[in-house]
Amino acid sequence: TKFSDLKLHTKVLKAIDEAGYTEPTPIQAGAIPHACEGRDVLGIAQTGTGKTASFTLPMITLLNRGRARARMPRSLVLAPTRELAAQVAENFDTYAKYTKLTKALLIGGVSFKEQDALIDRGVDVLIATPGRLLDHFERGKLLLTGVQIMVVDEADRMLDMGFIPDIERIFQLTPFTRQTLFFSATMAPEIERITNTFLSNPQRVEV
Ligand code: AMP
Repeated sequence: TKFSDLKLHTKVLKAIDEAGYTEPTPIQAGAIPHACEGRDVLGIAQTGTGKTASFTLPMITLLNRGRARARMPRSLVLAPTRELAAQVAENFDTYAKYTKLTKALLIGGVSFKEQDALIDRGVDVLIATPGRLLDHFERGKLLLTGVQIMVVDEADRMLDMGFIPDIERIFQLTPFTRQTLFFSATMAPEIERITNTFLSNPQRVEV
């Protein structure tokens, strides 16, 4: 499989070519075409398999095809830790460099002020840890009703850290019609339950 076979936007293809990626990893080859078609994806993959690109590349492709809604985030990525969220944000910047898409990184340990300013200005993508996202929501700073694509990364670690109730709450704050890309290294019963509840006919991709 080649990246050019995966239905990605040409601006995304240009960025990954520049990053020096020559061919998609198995999780990328399996997940990207389905995600680009708008399907829900349940990806079962460890870190190091290229899973970040497997949700970020289709997300950028779909957002770049769609029409921007003023001041409303259209995509939400949840990661269990600040470090992981920051890594996703870095990946997003690399892959979205030829687009006009914007992001805000919402993590704890830094003041709300800067994050508030970004939200007020209006961004396409929120990349967040669950606690900090809910903090912003509860402060009345954030509406998630424009979210078209929601990503949950490292769900098994979310479970270990006790974030599943937060994740369920966040799912319920987004539109029922959203597309969901959900990644976990393992499928514990609690993870299975969440995917059965919140994913719609997902394409399962296991590597
Ligand atoms: P991840 O599993 O998402 O943490 O990615 C692991 C590493 O692989 C990251 O440093 C990526 O930049 C890199 N990577 C992801 N996809 C590819 C690819 N198709 N070819 C080469 N490197 C890649």
